Amino acid sequence: MNTLPPVVHVAVQRPFYSTLDYSYDPTQGSIPLGSRLEIKLAGRTTVGVVMGSSPTPTLADPKKLKAITRLMDNEPILDAHLVELLDWAAKYYHEPIGEVVFTALPSLLRQQRPLNLPIWWQLTATESPTELQRAKRQLALYEWLKAQGGYVSEDAVAAWAGNGWRVTMRHLEAKGLVASTTLPPAPLEHIATAPHLTLTPQQLATIEGIQHAITQAELKPTLLHGITGSGKTEVYLRVMAPILAQGKQVLVLVPEISLTPQLLGRFRTHYPHERMVCLHSGLTDQERLQAWLQAQQQQVRIIIGTRSAVFTPCPNLGLIIIDEEHDLSFKQQEGFRYHGRDLAIKRAHMLNIPIILGSATPALETLHNADSGRFHYFHLAQRPGTAKPPSVQLQNIRGQTLRSGLSSTTLSMIKDTLARQEQVMLFINRRGFAPLLMCSSCGWSGQCEHCSANMTYHARQGKLICHHCSVEKLVPEHCPQCGHHHLVTQGQGTERLELVLSQTFPTIPIIRIDRDSTARKGALAERLQQVHEHPTAILVGTQMLAKGHDFPNLTLVVVLEADAALLSSEYHARERFGQLLVQVAGRAGRSDKAGQVIIQTNHPENPALVTLLAQGYTLFARQLLEERRRWHYPPFGYQALLRANAPELNDALDVLDKMAEHLQLFGLGGVILLGPTTAMLEKRAGRYRTQLLLQSANRKALHTLLNYLTHTIKQLKFPANTRWSIDVDPLDLT
Ligand code: ADP
Ligand code: ZN
Ligand code: ZN
Repeated sequence: MNTLPPVVHVAVQRPFYSTLDYSYDPTQGSIPLGSRLEIKLAGRTTVGVVMGSSPTPTLADPKKLKAITRLMDNEPILDAHLVELLDWAAKYYHEPIGEVVFTALPSLLRQQRPLNLPIWWQLTATESPTELQRAKRQLALYEWLKAQGGYVSEDAVAAWAGNGWRVTMRHLEAKGLVASTTLPPAPLEHIATAPHLTLTPQQLATIEGIQHAITQAELKPTLLHGITGSGKTEVYLRVMAPILAQGKQVLVLVPEISLTPQLLGRFRTHYPHERMVCLHSGLTDQERLQAWLQAQQQQVRIIIGTRSAVFTPCPNLGLIIIDEEHDLSFKQQEGFRYHGRDLAIKRAHMLNIPIILGSATPALETLHNADSGRFHYFHLAQRPGTAKPPSVQLQNIRGQTLRSGLSSTTLSMIKDTLARQEQVMLFINRRGFAPLLMCSSCGWSGQCEHCSANMTYHARQGKLICHHCSVEKLVPEHCPQCGHHHLVTQGQGTERLELVLSQTFPTIPIIRIDRDSTARKGALAERLQQVHEHPTAILVGTQMLAKGHDFPNLTLVVVLEADAALLSSEYHARERFGQLLVQVAGRAGRSDKAGQVIIQTNHPENPALVTLLAQGYTLFARQLLEERRRWHYPPFGYQALLRANAPELNDALDVLDKMAEHLQLFGLGGVILLGPTTAMLEKRAGRYRTQLLLQSANRKALHTLLNYLTHTIKQLKFPANTRWSIDVDPLDLT
């Protein structure tokens, strides 16, 4: 009997829906799950990750089986749990397994190069030994390291000690006075402990309730629905305490860290003796890897991060918290289109650990899960202290003459607020000066050549910029079509508001916060600092202003141009609008001063708006849920969106026509196909966009169909230069 070699199932960074099999030599040692390998693929060496193994080949012809080139890691980089989670995610999102696994890894681990971690040095003795008295250089380096305190990077040592520092360091090392590591513990920031707040009775009851719920044998996710400013963060901090006390790790997912520096600060001051890391898009590759390894080695116990931090290895995870769980940034909109919150729920379920979702405006699917008893539900209905939720008014602007988008009532309320030495915030979800530049003579307008959209006029830069493909053009001096001199703008953007307000209120600081004004590193922090320094000021901004900020002296919030979202045919638009409105409104009246919110609208009778204001977010959301129930939209049905794009519209349609036909031949099994149609934004960056929506009351039927599609897609012949993608549980149908 000939013995067949054992095989490993390997994920590679290629668009394959299955793992590839490679054999290995068992006499050279075993190959642990989750390790990286070097393998040959189509004649080239590449990196793979072991997702499973079998004692014998599963291939029909074992002779064709290739052997691995080498094992890259001494320790697996992914533990069995993460391997299982990623495997599940690949199946659920119908995404090539390699794409999933490599998306989850820090980029330095995706490469073939050996890890080149920076080295850090630290003193191991505290008294400078007498033997150094005669070795001047060693003594100097020793004293310098001591003055630095803690771990010092090689770069810093080299910068201080200059050439030849290595020799000196080696001498110190040989004497046992210093030691090096590639993975220093995360620094403890020396922040004074803030006095712990006295919890409100509601907070206390909620914390007790959650603590009771998360110690039950049968765990369910917990929704913490607390109005803006109700003190949810305080609840997270307290619920974490017993978990940390047991030595376990806590993973906290937040929408965008740069937007919520305050949250991080509160974790630090509440747990000044805990090591924590923060995984966000601003990290360098080295820093990201370092943070990842620190979590993996359990050097840190509080891991705070954005969407992709859901994949951080935490071998001793005891709790997951998702702040602002409704936030769209948890859903990746390109490539591997996963939802960070949903994967976190899955992860918690697999590990049988508690998970808390917090929001002032829970996503409809989350609220539905709470209403139907699948999630625990806790509500914080009040703000601590004397802070009250703001009063909200609709202002009918139909037929009114506006001054740069502002009604006279709004302007006089702004004046009154400033006279009381308080702050005003104007919210408009469009950066730039104006959304349209046109010729008053011939009607020419600044369209993007590559997209089916207008280019936005940016006055400061003197440019027209397309917000869809980022193409820029200098503003023409004359009409490109008829040569007329008079080009006019239409509509408002943050820049224009800033200009008009600075003319109207020349002595008041106007602080604009949008992607343009905060593009430079550190600019956002500066602007937020300005807000805190100027008790009387006007803030102008986009949805960047809506999230998480605590501005105690802000008492008037004005929402401009609320109408587009209300009238949108995209069924998620109203949910998102309601969330945004509540979040924006929640910035007003955070302290003891009463807050007011004005919403300028042409449609004050809009039923969704009326419900939202008269009855609050929960009833508004339930009303939207009822509509979704009628249409079998999620969460009462399941959807996946197939998208295609191509330089020619017909080619993009052809891809989806072929897919639709292919699926129909297989049998739809009760899945409805809606489309193919052109997308709402028909052309983007020179490519036409089409979509085909799949909807079913039965998740399994939908997934069977998608599974069939991905595994037989090679049979379909698509026109050249077309691309397609699958989006499971799509949240953006435009
Ligand atoms: P949320 O996240 O629910 O919007 P936060 O957690 O940001 O609310 O809390 C809002 C504000 O209320 C913060 O300034 C916080 O310090 C304060 N706060 C929270 N709990 C208490 C309390 N028990 N007593 C006094 N102030 C509190
Ligand atoms: Zn013209
Ligand atoms: Zn464009």
